Amino acid sequence: MKDDLERGLFQRVMTYKDIHGEIKKRKVLKDDRMWFHPPECPDMVRSTLPSADAFFRSRLNFCRPVGVWGYSLKCPRNNCPARDREDAFLYHCGYANTVRYICDISDWYCMLTEVLACSACRKAAKASATHSIGQFLAGCPIISQLTPAHQAMFPAILTLRHGVDKQVVKLMTDRTAANYMASIWRQVQENHCEKYLHRKDIYSTLLTSLTKERSLLNTIRHKFQPPPQHRKLPSAKLLRKAFLIGEAENTEDYRALIMSTFGKLLKFDSTKKICKKLAGAGCGTAEWCTNVGNELSQVLTSVLTCEESVQKLRPMAKGLIDRYSKAAESPPEEMYVDCGYCRLYGVSSIEKLFNEWMESGMVIHLDIFHWNHRFDAAVRTDHHPKYALFKSALSAAVFAFSQW
Ligand SMILES: [Zn+2]
Repeated sequence: MKDDLERGLFQRVMTYKDIHGEIKKRKVLKDDRMWFHPPECPDMVRSTLPSADAFFRSRLNFCRPVGVWGYSLKCPRNNCPARDREDAFLYHCGYANTVRYICDISDWYCMLTEVLACSACRKAAKASATHSIGQFLAGCPIISQLTPAHQAMFPAILTLRHGVDKQVVKLMTDRTAANYMASIWRQVQENHCEKYLHRKDIYSTLLTSLTKERSLLNTIRHKFQPPPQHRKLPSAKLLRKAFLIGEAENTEDYRALIMSTFGKLLKFDSTKKICKKLAGAGCGTAEWCTNVGNELSQVLTSVLTCEESVQKLRPMAKGLIDRYSKAAESPPEEMYVDCGYCRLYGVSSIEKLFNEWMESGMVIHLDIFHWNHRFDAAVRTDHHPKYALFKSALSAAVFAFSQW
């Protein structure tokens, strides 16, 4: 990659005269691309023996937001002396020596990053022992300063030592029942093995054809390079970690999506089931999960609380009412609830929560699913042979299928 003029990193070597009049050579990085593709894997042998490297080369991504895209980026440090200066930007000074291997769907590719430096931090480091030189790699958090379109072009999600391509992580987006990280890991592992074995196969096939053509003596004299070892795939746990890092970056998008969801018919429901599934540090910290959905089964809000009381749910209700008024949406017409609608002892708890909407004419009903469940109080056991029939008849008495 360093010497290949057509596909490599550098432009043609330039000569220039220095201040003493001596002619010097200079290598300059290409500034028109970030992806570097090696020559195709050879599929025939003519006169020379192919080196093993020619069969196992990988692509290279050289992340250079300043060098190629010409961005003016700010120093990411909070205590940077030039934090408030409008004209202080990072400058690029070479590239990092470490090459990161990124796990793609069927192979690996390498990633290099340019090194960005902050002159204000460098000056401050010279003056004081506590301030360190400001040098940053063009990864996180620098990437967050780019436009969303350029951020999307950054191909991988980086963990502390590894990197996973976004295409691998996207496989997890389809959240059907059979889609979990271990199965994705198996699929990626199979793809990697297949590609590696194919390259190994073609390498050994070409070497075999060579030995047939030439005399045995010539072949023995020549030393064949063994193929490189198959690089081990990162664990399913690491792939999951990369997925979570990627999802954390999408939080704002999800928030915007939820915050722009409205509806005229709402359903207010609380459940304990989901809270029982909380594990780790969050285990036992919540009792109720309250959701509000609309007529299209879209979720407007979902909150975890320690109790299902007016006091604890008030911030959620207030947020929902504020959202409607800020978006100039008219209040919902009806709300279906599982409980708390009864006026036997005065104003019901749901009415208290959504007081403003009640004044605008919203009507609260008991959800038909829960109305159906109320009959369980009069049934001695749900193991009775006619229980299912009774419930089915009850449901049929309420719902009628309309063909028009
Ligand atoms: Zn700085």
